[in-house]
Amino acid sequence: MRVVRTIADLRALLRPLREEGKRIGFVPTMGYLHEGHGALIRQSAARCDATVVSIFVNPTQFGPSEDLANYPRDLERDQNLCLEAEATVLFLPEVAEIYPTGFQTHVEPGRLADPLCGRFRPGHFRGVATVVAKLFNIVQPDLAFFGQKDFQQTVVIRRMARDLNLPVDVVVVPTIREADGLALSSRNAYLDEDARRRALRLSEGLLAARAAFDEGEREAAKLVEIARGPLAGVDSVQYLELVDTQNLEPIQGKVDRASALCVAAYVGSTRLIDNVILAPLPADVGISVVRSTQGA
Ligand code: AMP
Repeated sequence: MRVVRTIADLRALLRPLREEGKRIGFVPTMGYLHEGHGALIRQSAARCDATVVSIFVNPTQFGPSEDLANYPRDLERDQNLCLEAEATVLFLPEVAEIYPTGFQTHVEPGRLADPLCGRFRPGHFRGVATVVAKLFNIVQPDLAFFGQKDFQQTVVIRRMARDLNLPVDVVVVPTIREADGLALSSRNAYLDEDARRRALRLSEGLLAARAAFDEGEREAAKLVEIARGPLAGVDSVQYLELVDTQNLEPIQGKVDRASALCVAAYVGSTRLIDNVILAPLPADVGISVVRSTQGA
């Protein structure tokens, strides 16, 4: 595995691979890697000839009162995980490499960035879309891998790739969970034992709603209520919503199309998100693996 820190070095490394017709996969991350990231890297390694992993804690997607300065880091552990998951290149740019002096051009997502996390993190998806567009242009991958864990992010990125004709297939990988259901997240590192126990309430609610759905419950309000039950134990719920997976609009009445039950909540001072997909039609079961059409 090669470790590179500059755009020029990365391009020099990837150019011959691209000329040989190799398929390049890309996994953008903010580091402090866990098996969720590992799953993305492994999928890329299985489907592509070369896999680029980036670690970049992107300042433009953090709000002023968020955890940018304290975001957890452990480069040595990250390198080992990348190596073990069969990444070929690890890209570690400095902030000035991505945002040189004078930088002033952004990607502005549309309505998909407004609900859910967008309501509580103004500017977040603008920062995400901008850095992902830049990284797509730097890496020029054939496939890019994102986790369903950040469901709204996958929808915003897929829309951006289509709208801006970015020649990349966006692949969404199902959420990896701990044995007890907690979705893996770099931010779980902030949780002490008590908070870790309360954090479990998010997945408990979502997984209970999904179990009820699998047993035939189709009433949107009922499913949300089932998920809300365990959330009494967390400090503040920002949102718990059942939305259409395509347009992120709330589902009213019966769940008759692929939907995402999404939650964001604070456990102590740690903000956690999670979601499950509820797919009423057999054809929608694969909805969690959504792909943009290349060049569309
Ligand atoms: P982050 O480092 O948090 O920006 O995440 C980088 C990528 O890993 C994003 O596409 C996330 O959605 C994905 N990811 C984070 N946690 C998980 C998880 N538990 N399962 C699958 N993918 C994940």
